[in-house]
Amino acid sequence: MSKSTHPATQMIHVGAVPDASSAAVAPLYDSTTFSFDSTADLLDVVEGRTEAAFYTRYGMNPTIQSLEQRLAALDKADKALAYASGMAAISSLCLAFGRGGIICMGEIYGGTTGFLNQAAQLGIETRFIASKDKVALEQGLSEGASLVLFETPANPTLSVTDIAEVAELAHQFDALVAVDNTFATPINQLPLQLGADLAVQSATKYLGGHSDLTAGVVTGDGALITSLNPWRSSLGQTIAPETAHKLKRSLITLPLRVAQHNQNALTVAEFLQQHASVDQVFYPGLITDPGHPLAKKQMSGFGGMLSFTVKGGGHKARQMIDGLTLIKRAPSLGGAESLATQPVFTSHHGLPEALLKKAGISASMIRLSVGLEQSDDLIEDLQQALSNVALHR
Ligand code: PLP
Repeated sequence: MSKSTHPATQMIHVGAVPDASSAAVAPLYDSTTFSFDSTADLLDVVEGRTEAAFYTRYGMNPTIQSLEQRLAALDKADKALAYASGMAAISSLCLAFGRGGIICMGEIYGGTTGFLNQAAQLGIETRFIASKDKVALEQGLSEGASLVLFETPANPTLSVTDIAEVAELAHQFDALVAVDNTFATPINQLPLQLGADLAVQSATKYLGGHSDLTAGVVTGDGALITSLNPWRSSLGQTIAPETAHKLKRSLITLPLRVAQHNQNALTVAEFLQQHASVDQVFYPGLITDPGHPLAKKQMSGFGGMLSFTVKGGGHKARQMIDGLTLIKRAPSLGGAESLATQPVFTSHHGLPEALLKKAGISASMIRLSVGLEQSDDLIEDLQQALSNVALHR
């Protein structure tokens, strides 16, 4: 199937597994190992002359390989590697490509910040810079950083970074660019097409889409992914076949789900924007959002994530969130059910106050993963929770 085939078609048909029974849907291969007719056949695989199933931790398993074909098609990439979690994918690529130093731009998932701080103990240093700070970026690159890592839109501020611009500068210094595309998904944004070398996602979120699996993915060109593969194998980070099978099924509805998430989030953002108890709404789909012009340039949809600040500070935000009756209070995102969280208590809990302030993350900020419910029902719940806050002024 060509790379230009629509994702809706690709997510149904890419990754077929030849099967003796001609099953319409590829079966799950949960075998940890695969046998050979002769040692010569086995050596052909071990020495790379033939590609075949071999050992599941190496990812050489038909279920994992067929998922990876589908994930590569989704990102219009040569190759994909599927991982046991988003953090497995992020840590693997930082260990493989960040040894010259990492530049982390803008706000980033708290778990990634945590890992990058731990990686300093292994001599992998990270410089955290603002997403628009081109001077600091150039400085870091000129000092030999080998990897630039950022999220766009970012968690939880939804700020937008120019992928093409960063990639152009980084490539002048032979550094690689990796974009965490979890919030956008490849349906709304294709980082590799915009010049990034690697795209990474927590597949736990929109790709899985039902809050019932944990997985991750990295995509990129063949040579890069081939050099990343041994890290995944030796760190034992490969996705389990059972999860791969479930994820492959979820991908079938990804284009449909993301289109609805996009629509619901815009409707909810527009409602929040005009509400008297809401201070600010952060959603790149709003024409008033400072990131909108750039988002329009590099995204084809604006995603299901938004954040907003409640007037009156952190305790008011907490009151509002505690008053929700339909929308669940929970970390994570990307599922069918809408989830609300104060990032200072979840994804960014425990991060230094100064860092949070610099990133614009306050206790009054609520992050909303807008799900697939009817948008009127979501608005009704938000309306009643916000009126409750206003009454308790
Ligand atoms: N990247 C982003 C943007 C996230 O929000 C998360 C988790 O919330 C991760 C990566 C890590 O994903 P996982 O929980 O699958 O390890």
